[in-house]
Amino acid sequence: MTSLVAEAWPRPEPDAGGDPILVASGVRKTYRTGTVAVEALRGIDLTIRRGEFLAVMGPSGNGKTTMLNCLSGLDDIDDGTVIVDGQDIHALSDKRRTEHRARRMGFIFQSFNLIPVFTAEENVELPLLLIGAPAREARRRARAILDRVGLADRHHHRPTELSGGEQQRVAVARALVSEPAIVWGDEPTGNLDSSNAAEMLDLIEEVHRAGQTLVVVTHDATIAARAERLVRVTDGQITADGRPADLLA
Ligand code: ADP
Repeated sequence: MTSLVAEAWPRPEPDAGGDPILVASGVRKTYRTGTVAVEALRGIDLTIRRGEFLAVMGPSGNGKTTMLNCLSGLDDIDDGTVIVDGQDIHALSDKRRTEHRARRMGFIFQSFNLIPVFTAEENVELPLLLIGAPAREARRRARAILDRVGLADRHHHRPTELSGGEQQRVAVARALVSEPAIVWGDEPTGNLDSSNAAEMLDLIEEVHRAGQTLVVVTHDATIAARAERLVRVTDGQITADGRPADLLA
């Protein structure tokens, strides 16, 4: 992959690390389908610090994606609170929560979710246009972030004209372009072959080193091993929280 110039990334404030950016307390979520109720989250307490790279692991069907959706404000919760940068996100109206999410959260999914008829540049500028950024400013920032993820020569390619690894880098650029408080990844390497997955992991690490707070749900121990902190979710609860080296041993 094109090598990334570390100096191109924004530098975090030297003393910006460490304070809580998200505090979740007693978060519960039950899905009801007909007469069946599934308690997907059964009291999640989690504090995420600014600049932290947190991996989330756990068996399939145990609530990892639900936790990501509820802590990021993509989904409603039944009980508890989620405070992001001092804002209780579930106390906001749907409209304000959607706005908050658009401004403060970035998402990288397994299936890159790029818009096929849009170029890389158009895909990346879209979140800025949706929050009302002027078109010229959105274009300038989209181009700058595409350059940073190593796609300087792919601005005008559509997703079908890009490799899987390149598509995922566009998705990373789109997640970062609004300078979100937190970037959430749900199996971000799940659809990549091993060499593209390794490149994606390098990129994720680089984004983290630049000071971005990252929370990544993964089955992949090689990703989790490179995080600073690992949380295990079992049966809708956090059952382990510590250093990857200790928990993966
Ligand atoms: P994981 O990410 O660990 O695989 P999920 O958070 O996707 O787990 O799912 C947790 C539980 O909630 C599972 O039993 C799943 O079937 C259920 N679930 C997830 N999403 C929904 C939904 N939209 N409607 C009903 N049940 C759901």
